[in-house]
This record gives sequence, C-alpha cells and structure tokens, in this order.
Amino acid sequence: MLARSNTLNLNEFMQGLVKRNPGEIEFHQAVEEVATSIIPFINEHPKYIKNQIFERMTEPDRTIIFRVCWEDDEGHIRTNRGYRVQFNNAIGPYKGGLRFHPSVNLGILKFLGFEQTFKNSLTTLPMGSGKGGADFNPKGKSEREVMRFCQAFMTELSKHIGENVDVPAGDIGVGAREISFMFGQYKRLQNEFTGTLTGKALEFGGSLIRKEATGYGCAYFMEEMLKHQGDSIEGKTCLVSGSGNVAQFAAQKIMQLGGKVITLSDSSGFIHDPDGLNEEKLEYIIDLKTNRRGRISEYAEKFKCKFHKDKRPWSLKGDLAFPCATQNEIELEDAKHLVKNGFKALSEGANMPTTHEAVSALLKAKIIFAPGKAANAGGVAVSGLEMTQNSIRLAWQREELEERLKTIMHDIHQQCIDYGTEKDHIDYVKGANLAGFVKVADAMVAYGVI
Ligand code: GLU
Repeated sequence: MLARSNTLNLNEFMQGLVKRNPGEIEFHQAVEEVATSIIPFINEHPKYIKNQIFERMTEPDRTIIFRVCWEDDEGHIRTNRGYRVQFNNAIGPYKGGLRFHPSVNLGILKFLGFEQTFKNSLTTLPMGSGKGGADFNPKGKSEREVMRFCQAFMTELSKHIGENVDVPAGDIGVGAREISFMFGQYKRLQNEFTGTLTGKALEFGGSLIRKEATGYGCAYFMEEMLKHQGDSIEGKTCLVSGSGNVAQFAAQKIMQLGGKVITLSDSSGFIHDPDGLNEEKLEYIIDLKTNRRGRISEYAEKFKCKFHKDKRPWSLKGDLAFPCATQNEIELEDAKHLVKNGFKALSEGANMPTTHEAVSALLKAKIIFAPGKAANAGGVAVSGLEMTQNSIRLAWQREELEERLKTIMHDIHQQCIDYGTEKDHIDYVKGANLAGFVKVADAMVAYGVI
C-alpha cells in the first residue's frame, strides 16, 4: 500500500489541482490564494490531513452543465451553455448567485463557488455554497429576449434546485428583473411558492435591503477595519470601481459614513468626479445603469467631469479603494500605484478583483486588505435572512435587517481578528480563510467519509 504523507505540500497540492482541472485559471488562482494560508494550518491539525479535507473541499459535490435554447426577436434560435456548480453543502443548502456574462465558463464558476464556501461560512448563517450562470450576454437584448432566455434557463435548472437543496440568487448580469423571470418560471413549473431564489422583489417574498446589502456590507467592513485602528471613513477620498448593484450601494454607504467617492466605472472606462458623488448624482447612476442600461460616459457628460476611456481608476490619488466591478481588475501595476499614492486600505466589493501578485504587493506595503469573501459577504448574508423570512413567512423591517447586517459584518471582522492576528497587524486574508475553513471542515469531519 502507498504510504500517505502526513503533511500537505503547497506546490504538490497545486500541481495535482491544476492537472485535475486543466485550463481553469481563475479556479487555480482562487484555490492557491486559500491554500497558501490554509496548508500551514492544516499541517498543524492532523485530523484535516487524515480526512483529506482540503482535497475534498476543492472538488465540487457536483457540476451540472446544460444546453439553453431560446428564440430571439427575429425568430432565430439561439443556443447558450448553462451551469450550476453545487460546491459544498456541509453546513446548509447550496447557496450562491447566477452570472450571465459572455466570459462565463466552468473555471470562473468553480472559482466563484469555491470562494462562496468560505464566504457563506463566515456569515455565521447555515448556508452551503454554489454558483451558476450562462455565457449569455444580456447587453443589447430586448426585455422579451431576456425573459425567454431566463425561462429556458430555469426550465432545466428547476430540476436541480429547491428551498432546502440549492437556492440561487443574482450576480453580474442577473438582477431583480432576471430573478423575477426565473422565479416566475420556477413557480409555474413546480407549482409551488417557496423561497427557492433570493433577491426577489418585495411583493413576492424578497427582503428589504437585499439590493443594498453587498455594497453596504463592503463599506461597513471597511469602517470596522479602520475603527480597529482608531480611524474611520469620515473625510477619506475613495476610489470605487464598477457602477452596478455593488458599486452603487457601496458608494451610498461610503457617503453616509462621511467619505468622498470620486470614481465609478464600467467596461468602457471610468469617470473622475473630483467634487465627489452626492445623492442626486447617485440616483442618476442607479437610473442609468438599472433602468436605462446606458454607459458610464453619460455621467461625465451630464455632470461635466472627465471620462477616461478603457482605463481603470487605480492610478488616482486617494485614501481608500473599493473594487466593485469584477475579477482581476487590480493587477500588480495598479497595486504599485495604490502603494505609491499612500492608500490606507482596500475592501473588495467584487469577487477576487485583486490578483495574487497585487495582493502580495499591498500586504508588503502594509495596506490593510479585506478579501471579498469577508468584505462582500453582506449580500449573501441578507440572502440568508431572506431564506429565513420565507421559511417563517414573515417580512422583517428595514431597521431590523440593517442592524442584523451590521452585526454580521462586525462578526465577520471579529472572526478575521481571531484567526488573522499577527505580531503587528491583522492578516485579513489568512483570518478569513481560516475562519471560513474551520466550520465547514469540522462539519465534513463529523460526517465521516461521504
Ligand atoms: N452573487 C453574490 C455573491 O457573490 C450573492 C449570492 C447570493 O446572494 O446567494 O456572494
């Protein structure tokens, strides 16, 4: 019999993972980031080695891939690929968003599902992890085309989800409109009214502050980190990227906490408004992006400020950075700018917006860095609260939900401190990874070999 080593080696582990998952570069990146902090910890706790916990945690429970056929407005038949990665249900039903974007592939969804395992564990709520979506591009599609796509997508997905099985929500390209189309179709097919999707409209089981939750949570997390240092967002100049749901409400909460937001972006470039956003400008952005589905350059025309085509905001001066667009939008060069310009902290609103090299550069320069699995967990946390409200068939008030969200972000911060305190600083990457890991790992150990 082959002797099993009683330690894990990072390089050997990563070689095996890359070999088993060829070409899935974002998944490799997400696992490596976690493995770097987890493996030394695992090596000190033989029960995790003996039970092969990390090997099992990096393999999704199952991956469902399906054809989605729909008809466009011209009567042409279109075919897309749909996915649901049910990653881990050790501590609750699979839970995570659906992304509709042309870049969607299995590797991206596995990275997102893997991250979700740790994020959902950190929320303190009983949620497992999953992620799904399709390579469908909602941009330029009519409302009816989006509806037909959502219905076709749900016709297959409905066979694999359920309120106690797997509860999808939104992500990039999937907002209230798409969730409504999918929930309607799910309800029709299953002939049941259950909280099987979250992010629903208030009229049919949605939760107050779900739409604000990811952005608000990201700003609260920044406030927690600064408070721990005797500081606050008040008076700070903030760079925010993105202009979708996360960026909009991160910007709103930053403003409410006294910060000045001078940038927003979309895939065509970024706007630089040195006077800072205010409620009126934010309302314009919410309408532009959520209802009119326009380009961010229209903001620059309307409010007479600069639009930087095809650029990201990270070379500007400021104090705090909030990447809220998408993965890998802060590369090493961008991180060097943040270091040179004396940034104090960064809170990730998006999932893995900062590359591995960029994170290392920021940490080396002692910039306080909050990984997305901690900083943007507010969204899925309020999804968890939506599940609870649906189960008890009640709707909580706004104040109660905002208080609960604040408490959850505070508790996530505390877990990062418990697991990430180093001699002279808090390592939030390590803290979030270890705290997220332990709860899921201990549940898996308790279940035995399954
Ligand atoms: N897509 C969001 C995330 O990345 C929310 C998921 C959810 O609410 O289930 O966490």
